[in-house]
Amino acid sequence: MFEKILIANRGEIALRILRACHEMGIQTVAVHSTADADAMHVRLADESVCIGAAPPRASYMNIPAILSAASLTNASAIHPGYGFLSENPNFAEIIEEHGFTFIGPTPEHIRTMGDKLAAKAVLSGLGIPVVPGSDEAIEDIAEDIGYPVLVKAAHGGGGRGMQIVTAPKDLGAALAMARTEAQNHFKNGAVYLEKYLMTPRHIEIQILADTHGNVVHFGERDCSIQRRHQKLLEEGPSPALNADERSEIGAMVTAAIASLGYRGVGTLEFLYADGKFYFMEMNTRLQVEHPVTEMLSNVDLVREQIRVAAGAALGYRQNDVHLQGHAIECRVTAENPMTFIPSQGRITDYHPPGGLGVRIDSALYSGYEIPPYYDSLIAKLIVYGRNRPEALMRLRRALDEYVIGGIETTIPLFQSLVANKDFVNGTYDVHWLERFVDVEEQRAKIRA
Ligand code: ADP
Repeated sequence: MFEKILIANRGEIALRILRACHEMGIQTVAVHSTADADAMHVRLADESVCIGAAPPRASYMNIPAILSAASLTNASAIHPGYGFLSENPNFAEIIEEHGFTFIGPTPEHIRTMGDKLAAKAVLSGLGIPVVPGSDEAIEDIAEDIGYPVLVKAAHGGGGRGMQIVTAPKDLGAALAMARTEAQNHFKNGAVYLEKYLMTPRHIEIQILADTHGNVVHFGERDCSIQRRHQKLLEEGPSPALNADERSEIGAMVTAAIASLGYRGVGTLEFLYADGKFYFMEMNTRLQVEHPVTEMLSNVDLVREQIRVAAGAALGYRQNDVHLQGHAIECRVTAENPMTFIPSQGRITDYHPPGGLGVRIDSALYSGYEIPPYYDSLIAKLIVYGRNRPEALMRLRRALDEYVIGGIETTIPLFQSLVANKDFVNGTYDVHWLERFVDVEEQRAKIRA
């Protein structure tokens, strides 16, 4: 097993990884920017190294600085977390060339799956149903699949660069715009078309594979509560799936992953509509919403990542994976709950909720000053219940308890969400929250 792991990340996910390491008796090295000198991950790590200035490019994405920090501290493996360099195949490659272990899949798998078109082709070849679409943005294909269509960036992420096109006359302009945006944001102008589904749910399957050919899945997470194609709340199991559908898609995904020879954790994202699954993309890293799965399975996914990276065998099979109860995660961000304008400043009071079935993944503390350079996610509130009504009840209670003073947060948005009938009934799709937020905004205006 590794003696020391460098964590190439910050915030709640750096703490999450650090916790798994410490439970395993592994020493931790935190890296940080000049803006994060007082951050919690720096305080809790065994050692820390400043790797550069505040902008991510100068620090958390600075490959030479991270490698130097690993050499300097004698770390043997590097965990990338999510975001930053976690899906950069060059980073994974360089790490291994320098004799460190990358805690994640092979650079080849990251590269292939990072290209959404290539990923769709590979998985479709392995029998996984994919969202109908094009290999390239060919106008005839739009006619074939039928309008509305969605123009997407092949190397896109974070919900950016998608354009809905409802009529043939708008396609040319949308393609040109999408190519420019993709080039600017993702340094690759490749775009493609997909059929735009009107009321799908986003359902993703969590998988885990070792280097000995063992693959298991941990069921699904429903991530349909989204704003601008970005997830705000995730839950599992999905209120829309039954046990047969779950084991069917799980078996299909597991077989595909096994034949790819993939290693580590991964998530296959699907759109689900009218009882059918359509593969959209694969994430080759730990995801923000992984705690939902941990609550249901009682498996520490970070620990499993580390074990697999060290060459250990899973030691259990699909039949040993038991999913129980219901879990919901809220992504609490430092933003106005109505306008989503970032809210900066100092945390004056901090009192997280606790009690049975409540988990908080956060690097906040009282007196912490939120730096303006990074993602606005400040805490993940995860609740567990024996069933969905119990989880909802607990979520309401936990949200009411949560005190984060000095800044605006999205807690009030989640409070109105858990009071909403559609949400409570589980009858929502990926476009539902946008409508809900509109309605809430109108209400606020009337109240004002
Ligand atoms: P990104 O990698 O930028 O997050 P994804 O391909 O994962 O992009 O899609 C993000 C979200 O956008 C999905 O969860 C869904 O809500 C919406 N979306 C993507 N493709 C489609 C589609 N073909 N039809 C309808 N909605 C879609």
